[in-house]
Amino acid sequence: MKNIQNTIDKVYYECLELKQKGEVASYIPELAKVDPNLFGAALITSNGTIYGIGDYQKKFSMQSVSKVCILIQAILDSGHEKVFKKVNIEPTSSSFNSIANLELKEDNKPLNPFINAGAIVCTSFIKGDTSEEKVQRIISLIKNITGNDDITYDKNVYQSEASTGSRNKSLAYYMNSTGVLEGDIEVILDAYFKICSIEVTCEDLAKIALSIAHNGMNLNGFSIFSSIVAKELRAIMCLCGMYDGSGEFALRVGLPSKSGVGGGIMSVSLDNDGMGIGVFGPSLDSKGNSYLGIAFLEKLTTELGISLFE
Ligand code: GLN
Repeated sequence: MKNIQNTIDKVYYECLELKQKGEVASYIPELAKVDPNLFGAALITSNGTIYGIGDYQKKFSMQSVSKVCILIQAILDSGHEKVFKKVNIEPTSSSFNSIANLELKEDNKPLNPFINAGAIVCTSFIKGDTSEEKVQRIISLIKNITGNDDITYDKNVYQSEASTGSRNKSLAYYMNSTGVLEGDIEVILDAYFKICSIEVTCEDLAKIALSIAHNGMNLNGFSIFSSIVAKELRAIMCLCGMYDGSGEFALRVGLPSKSGVGGGIMSVSLDNDGMGIGVFGPSLDSKGNSYLGIAFLEKLTTELGISLFE
């Protein structure tokens, strides 16, 4: 393996040379305020050594990267059977907030847990009678994995999401009408908005990714989720983690990953006894994935030879 810090530095500066493409998410007003020039990345190796560059310690909105944590907690709280009775595990060719398949598919179930409809259903399987109880379970999960006690959600982003969340509300009420989503719909939606608003750094994402590489174990050797769940996450991240951009991403990067419209991408590598990578660049491509984040990961996996398909 090449010198990791040198490789990260080289790739980072190559990416800075790229002519900036993409735009920050604007459909959530609070996210439109984020500086499009921010850019950072962190890689953590199996023994816990962290390599970072740029804005890798800057907090940003987790958004859909949280869908991985939602799925973990849903399975921990309600079990596989209940969760996967209501959510399929198939890739999508539609955008992350598409409503179309919910009606077109005979079983009305969301295609996978990493599109909005699927994550909203998974949120219903997280224990808690209030949205605050549900979000706190996700925050505790992230704290337990990362050891970062500062994890909170951003109230401004949450309010911004909740007040402009018509599409997610439509998805939830539609799924309620078909019997796929049960429970207090407003509580579930409110929890989903709060969870999307959790703030993390590249370092946090790298640590979560490492726990997925390490079959559910955190850096202190505590088992947070099972190896079966970790294996499932890697598979679903590979097939569904970048929404309708997952196929092209597999070719360009080749790591199980999950993106969010906050500009974060979290990637898992099984090379070198396991590594975790977190990247942040808020300008997005047309599929809602970080433009610079993908460019960075493509160059990094090529340089280090760590694509799954190598
Ligand atoms: N909070 C965002 C939404 O529900 C998350 C979407 C994303 O990151 N792709 O629309």
